[in-house]
Amino acid sequence: MAALLTAPMLADLLWPVFLLAGWEQVRIDPGNTRFTPLDFVSYPWSHSLLMLALWATAFAGVYLAAVRYWPGAIAIWFGVVSHWVLDWVTHRPDMPLLPDGARYGLGLWNSVAGTIMVEVAMFAAGVWIYLRATRAEDRIGRWALAAYVILLMIGYAGNAFGAPPDNVSQIAWSGILAAVILIPWAWWFDRHRAAAGDKNR
Ligand SMILES: [Zn+2]
Repeated sequence: MAALLTAPMLADLLWPVFLLAGWEQVRIDPGNTRFTPLDFVSYPWSHSLLMLALWATAFAGVYLAAVRYWPGAIAIWFGVVSHWVLDWVTHRPDMPLLPDGARYGLGLWNSVAGTIMVEVAMFAAGVWIYLRATRAEDRIGRWALAAYVILLMIGYAGNAFGAPPDNVSQIAWSGILAAVILIPWAWWFDRHRAAAGDKNR
C-alpha cells in the first residue's frame, strides 16, 4: 500500500526537495489559474514526462528487486507516470515532455467548479475501490482509514479555499511533512485490512 500510494505522488515528493535544492522554481502568484495560486516556473526533473518515465522505471525496478511481484511493479510504473497525465489535465501549459522541451496543459484549474467536481469524483472513486477491495480486520483497519479519508478531505478544502502560502519554503516543507505523515499512515491502516476476496462482504 505504501509503495502503491507513493507511486502517483512521487513527482510531488521529489518536487519539494528539488525546490529546496534550488534545482526547480515555483512562484506564488494568486490568480495564476483560478484554482491554484502557484506559477510552476520550472520543474524539469520532477515533472517532465521523460524524467517521470525514468523515475517510474527506477522505482518499479527497486520494488521488483525487493518484492519480486510483477503486477505490483507494473502498477507502480503506471502510477508514477499517471502523475504527468493528471497534471497535464489540470495545469495550464507548464508540463514539459522533455526536461527542456515544449510545455503542455489543458488548464482544468481555470475552472474552480470543474476542478472540484473532477477531483472529488476521482477521490470518491478511489476510496470506493479501496473499500470494495479490502475489509477491516479490526478497529484500526476501520477507524484509522476513516480518519485518513476525513483528513484528506479537510486538507483538500484547505488547499482549495485557504490563503495562498507565504513563501516557497513553506510550500516545500508542508509537502514533505504531508508525505511523511500520509504514507506511513496509509501503510498502517492497510496492515489492519485484508483483501476482500471473492465473497461479497
Ligand atoms: Zn505534480
